[in-house]
Amino acid sequence: MSDHFDAIVVGAGPSGNACAYVMAKAGLNVLQIDRGEYPGSKNVQGAILYADALERIIPDFRDDAPLERHVIEQRFWMLSEKSHTGAQYRSDEFNEERPNRYTILRAQFDKWFSRQVRAAGAVLITETTVKDLIKDDAGRVIGVITDREGGPIYANAVVLAEGVNGIVGQRAKLRPEIKANHVALAVKETLFLPEETVRERFNLAGEEDGVVIEVLGSVSSGMVGTGFLYTNKESISIGVGCLLSDFAETKIAPYALLDKFKQHPSVAPLLKGAEMKEYVAHLIPEGGYDAIPRLTGDGWLIVGDAGQFVNAVHREGSNLAMTSGRLAAETLIQLRAEGKPVTEATLKLYRDKLADSFVMKDLKKYRKVPRLLEGNRQFFTTYPAVVNKAMQMFLRVDGVDKASKEAAMMRGVAKARGGWWGVVTDIFKMARAWR
Ligand SMILES: Cc1cc2nc3c(=O)[nH]c(=O)nc-3n(C[C@H](O)[C@H](O)[C@H](O)COP(=O)(O)OP(=O)(O)OC[C@H]3O[C@@H](n4cnc5c(N)ncnc54)[C@H](O)[C@@H]3O)c2cc1C
Repeated sequence: MSDHFDAIVVGAGPSGNACAYVMAKAGLNVLQIDRGEYPGSKNVQGAILYADALERIIPDFRDDAPLERHVIEQRFWMLSEKSHTGAQYRSDEFNEERPNRYTILRAQFDKWFSRQVRAAGAVLITETTVKDLIKDDAGRVIGVITDREGGPIYANAVVLAEGVNGIVGQRAKLRPEIKANHVALAVKETLFLPEETVRERFNLAGEEDGVVIEVLGSVSSGMVGTGFLYTNKESISIGVGCLLSDFAETKIAPYALLDKFKQHPSVAPLLKGAEMKEYVAHLIPEGGYDAIPRLTGDGWLIVGDAGQFVNAVHREGSNLAMTSGRLAAETLIQLRAEGKPVTEATLKLYRDKLADSFVMKDLKKYRKVPRLLEGNRQFFTTYPAVVNKAMQMFLRVDGVDKASKEAAMMRGVAKARGGWWGVVTDIFKMARAWR
């Protein structure tokens, strides 16, 4: 193996794979390093795959990628202890030839993606951890040190696609430690159910149709967080994620929270008889735009979760990861073609590409949301409880006249927030954060 590359990519998740693939396809000499036994062996996602981001990298990915179901229906649930109020959108338009969203199992998907990366010409070494970066006297990153024997490996550029913890970047003092209120700790189970049972329970006529459910309210037990339930071919992925700082403060055990979610009367029937296949826990960057670290420097750049590129409002991460990986690759390809070095100054090209893409535009749009939610727990507690109570009152036929019911419901909403002023202020705050 050569000890000098055009680029070394640290990590073989969606961001690292996208980056390595695009560079290798363009003829760059790429080394990719992952600490897992195989790419994806330790990677965690819900998981919804957003086709558009991958399609821009591998247009015909549908031919052989391991896709579970394509999503034709999205449900949103506001949970109280005993009920849920929901909205759902289902459309036959999602049954298009090139569906827009799929459920996937990351271990299989990452393995497939990695095969494409290697077929494109990149060299991959697994079961190898990058311990540190090598810098020259001027502080420019020129290579990596791994836990393997064989000495340092050098490159014109090191792409940090190492995921949310960003340990390599931290160790090299390129970025600060992540903060507990900038990440959610998510726990997830994959539960086996026969294919026919999945289809029956979720009313899925087409063999490959799928449903996803996003959940807010009592699922997070007062913490800032959400739950999810996704249909795979022969399994259900169910999980819950809340701010790490909230778990630390409340001392609630993440697995206890997930157990409670599984036992909720709206959820338990969907899981009846299911057999646990996998239990995993992982962090999700949720600090938003203000938590993004420095992304470039002489000889290095950051992509994916390591850059905090997750849109928590829309539950998107892998697409931001793949897009930032692709944009980083396109930048390095261009710099090489123009004979320019990889420096903080020339990497303005990458920063500009990001700023011009939906990645930064969306993160910027929701910039205020993480702080809003952290400081306003009523969006996770009071409102879901009040909405469910109001629905109960509205639907129950018990001899009370409708005008009295409506008045009681309105009083209930106002009382929950200490008067109408509280409600109006919340609406105003939410509207401002959403702009
Ligand atoms: C529970 C959960 C549910 C999610 N649901 C969704 C969803 O439905 N849709 C969606 O789009 N996103 C979702 N996300 C977010 C999504 O998983 C991430 O945004 C995405 O995986 C980021 O990709 P990445 O390549 O940047 O990082 P990762 O996927 O974390 O990959 C990082 C890679 O780097 C390797 N690595 C780390 N350090 C080193 C080192 N020092 N040396 C060598 N290798 C190293 C790791 O082994 C890993 O393979 C979810 C996340 C979680 C935790």
